Amino acid sequence: MAGLAAMPLFLSLNGRRVVLAGGSVAALWKAELAQAAGAEIEVYSEAPCAGLLDLARRRPSVRLMHRAFQVADLKGAALAIADVESAAEAESFRAAARAAGAPANIIDKPAFSDFQFGAIVDRSPLVIAISTDGASPILAQAVRGRIEAVLPAAIKLWAAAAKGWRAPLKALAPSPRLRRRFWELFNAKALGAGSAPPDERLFTALLDEAGRDRCAPEGGVALVGAGPGDPELLTLKALRLLQSADVVLYDDLAAPAIIDMARREAEKIPVGKRGYKPSCKQDHIVALMIELALQGKRVVRLKGGDPMVFGRAAEEIAALRGAGIAIEVVPGVTAALGAAASLQVSLTERARARRLQFVTAHAHDGKLPEDIDWRALCDPGASSVVYMGARMLDAMAERLLAHGADPATPALLVERATCPDERRIAGTIATLPAKAAAQAPSGPCLILIGAVFAEAEVDAADADAAHRLARAAE
Ligand code: SAH
Repeated sequence: MAGLAAMPLFLSLNGRRVVLAGGSVAALWKAELAQAAGAEIEVYSEAPCAGLLDLARRRPSVRLMHRAFQVADLKGAALAIADVESAAEAESFRAAARAAGAPANIIDKPAFSDFQFGAIVDRSPLVIAISTDGASPILAQAVRGRIEAVLPAAIKLWAAAAKGWRAPLKALAPSPRLRRRFWELFNAKALGAGSAPPDERLFTALLDEAGRDRCAPEGGVALVGAGPGDPELLTLKALRLLQSADVVLYDDLAAPAIIDMARREAEKIPVGKRGYKPSCKQDHIVALMIELALQGKRVVRLKGGDPMVFGRAAEEIAALRGAGIAIEVVPGVTAALGAAASLQVSLTERARARRLQFVTAHAHDGKLPEDIDWRALCDPGASSVVYMGARMLDAMAERLLAHGADPATPALLVERATCPDERRIAGTIATLPAKAAAQAPSGPCLILIGAVFAEAEVDAADADAAHRLARAAE
């Protein structure tokens, strides 16, 4: 972990003393917050606002001392909060709080504060706090709004049920693995609950289900599609498996933001296989997966795009089956579909494409495969997406033209589709190789060939080319 701006902590204040110096409306909010957290609050102010007078009347845990704050008042305080005007007052309050061993917050003066109050989503016992380390309280509010929107209305009741079920579950299910499975099933229900509260019978039902789950007691491997790059293209199932994994083996095509979504305690092992770079051998990856699963670990093998598209999944599945290991496959958005979405091009537009084909231009020996069906690729009624083809572009174009392809057929190169630095190079079968060579793409690239790509959204620099292509296709 690097560069954490502030340490998030959740402090138990039940029955503890909080000292608040100040009588403003801002001080009132802090008093309300601290009393909601169960603190005994002493408010020192010669002129408390009406809200504070009212709060003290309603809540015995809020005591108003109608005098100025003194340093001695801080003795034994769990927290010290002040609303003061000047930097000098703020500095001396913090010094006094530190001397008394109490962390201090000076309202609206982060530079003089030991801690900040974040924006809060309160579904107690579920509490979410958001901090921008003072960068933008408004941003924190906006993030809070987003979080509020995705939380089911009944999550508070589910969190309360979880609290109540923790001890009985521990008594009935001594195995940590069984308990974890129970909570995973519980979470899936809680997050999908909408406004429905948990039912008492659910406890037994989930416990039974967790016990029956054949994956639970032993390890297994999930081949999980990570999508083409944009982390938001991950499926909910992929996210759930990542968050319950013991080990994550990931390709170098899997975005770091996706790996960060894995369970914090999960061991994360890079097993990248880059066509032309030193790489982790496939045999080694398979052996590692088997070894980890046999140790009872839940392994997520995170693969770029979809695991069943040019991902050597067949070999992995065969080896895992041979070793008697439970396998699950979670599809992902394959690069071709990510690129089509970015380009806003339908790959099967009725009038122009009757067939959609995904082709690899990379044989086992790293060369252009000898058995490519070139005639199929020349079909003017097909949309073709070539994986692993950027370095073969010259040779491919030559073979296509030799097999009678129309040199004016639109052809595009899309590098790092769906990533923030996605790049597109537009041309035709005849012109794309030279254009691509001039721009020397270094990330993963697709070559898209076919009439449907004539109007593809390309970058401003390529807009002219796109217009020319569109006219040529008319
Ligand atoms: N299973 C993956 C493909 C793995 S093969 C999938 O379904 O997408 C690796 C090749 O996929 C790369 O050489 C490149 O041709 C293509 N690729 C993967 N991600 C890509 C991306 N974001 N943009 C363009 N091409 C990509």
